[in-house]
Amino acid sequence: MTTCNVCSGTGSLATGRYESCYGCGGRGYGSSIDQACTACGGSGNSTREVRDVCFQCCGGGIVDDPTPPSTARSATRRSPSPAKSATKAPTASSGKTGKASSGRTDPSGTIGTIAVVAAIIAGVAAFSGGQPAAEAVGIALAVLIATNIVLFVAYHLLRIAFFALLAVAAGNILGFDWARELVRTLLG
Ligand SMILES: [Zn+2]
Ligand SMILES: [Zn+2]
Repeated sequence: MTTCNVCSGTGSLATGRYESCYGCGGRGYGSSIDQACTACGGSGNSTREVRDVCFQCCGGGIVDDPTPPSTARSATRRSPSPAKSATKAPTASSGKTGKASSGRTDPSGTIGTIAVVAAIIAGVAAFSGGQPAAEAVGIALAVLIATNIVLFVAYHLLRIAFFALLAVAAGNILGFDWARELVRTLLG
């Protein structure tokens, strides 16, 4: 905490305006209109200046130290900014987890990337190998589609194989004959 440099710690700021004279209520004259108010000399103003609440310290006269921006002490006064970051943090993490889970369940993104890379390599290889540009693009497109299909099928075959292995393992544990037979033939 340091003293506010805008108001010098007073918490208020001069406005240049004055409160109305208590003697005449700000009119500047007394009982008669041609008789100047004796309290204010006819100005209508009292000697009390109107003061605004300091815009920087909100009247407290002290402000947070600017050097450490995120200390525990500043949390009370700067409640909006930690709240903002707190609301931001879950959305960022949830977005991350959402992406991760979707990547785990849906491999099309990875397959697509691999296919595009393979297509580019094939296209460039065809073009530098003396093929005309149109032909090279055609080859690249063919590779793109073929890679997509092959990877997609391979992925699902792997999944099927994985679940088949699980089923065999479970069958072995549960003592199914077919599962024991399968393992015996596979292991020789
Ligand atoms: Zn101030
Ligand atoms: Zn007056």
